[in-house]
Amino acid sequence: MYTVSTLYSKVLCIIEICVRKVIMVSAVYEPRAKRKIILAQAAGFCFGVKRAVEMTQEARITRVGKLTTLGPIIHNEQVIDRMRGAGIDTALTLDLITEGTVVMSAHGVAPSQLAQARAQGLQILDVTCPFVTKVHRTAKQLYEQGYQILLVGDKGHTEVRGIVGAVEEIGGSVIVISLPHEIEEFELGKKVAIVCQTTQNSDNYARIVAEVCRTATDVRAINTICNATDELQDAAVRMARQCDVAIVVGGRKSANTQRLRTICEAQGIPAYHIETVEEIEETWLEGKAVIGITAGASTPDWIIEEVAAHLNYGQLPPDWNLHHPNEKC
Ligand code: SF4
Repeated sequence: MYTVSTLYSKVLCIIEICVRKVIMVSAVYEPRAKRKIILAQAAGFCFGVKRAVEMTQEARITRVGKLTTLGPIIHNEQVIDRMRGAGIDTALTLDLITEGTVVMSAHGVAPSQLAQARAQGLQILDVTCPFVTKVHRTAKQLYEQGYQILLVGDKGHTEVRGIVGAVEEIGGSVIVISLPHEIEEFELGKKVAIVCQTTQNSDNYARIVAEVCRTATDVRAINTICNATDELQDAAVRMARQCDVAIVVGGRKSANTQRLRTICEAQGIPAYHIETVEEIEETWLEGKAVIGITAGASTPDWIIEEVAAHLNYGQLPPDWNLHHPNEKC
């Protein structure tokens, strides 16, 4: 038989145990911050990159002998790693490829490289995006029409080297600039044609054209920016305007991914460029209710989806619908 005071102390003891358990449970199951994930309406693989990857994968099955890409065929290390795993190697120069088939970049190559590959007796798989080939053709035609060629692009980028090489092959030269003020460094004539690397920004291109028009009297401005680029950038702007923070997914060396990050940041929010999900830092997300995701034209779906699932606590957001940029150019 319990006395009243023993009963009282037992009840107190039970209450204390219960309170402790509640405290422990709430410590383990801290409520997660509510997050909304917004995906840009167009993100990831463009037509040219998808085509280059598929052509290369198909060649692995159909071609006999070694298959080696000349430099990375697209700017995404993870895709290149997977290709390496499937037996497709990468060499930085043609001299290092001694047999089999060489795969040329989606961003195009200079004709001199194609000639060298042929001279070395290599088979060639040219996966240059047709829209990049169009820029080569346009620049050459304008040079043949007597125009001084001004190319708006990133110096040293594979695509830029290819366009310059195409004009040089027919005896011409190309001035490469990326910003309007750089024009001052060159002596422009009166007859100038302005073309553009396919992944440049339209506003920057327009500013450069306006600058050239101040001194040249015969100006041909052919906007060769690819539709996919415009679409990715417009979608990134719309997405960033609805978000508190933007995560931009793509290869470290991908120029169009870097540009997407800058564009998001210009909308007044922090924007982080990552290659893979492991690079996301939780501090970036603290206090951010709406998180935007966009991805460059060389970023495969599986990497974008890994990022989205991570941000959404382990699973893809319920309304997940990934659209690539349109294929028309
Ligand atoms: S961005 Fe445009 S031009 Fe460049 S590879 Fe993609 S589709 Fe081709």
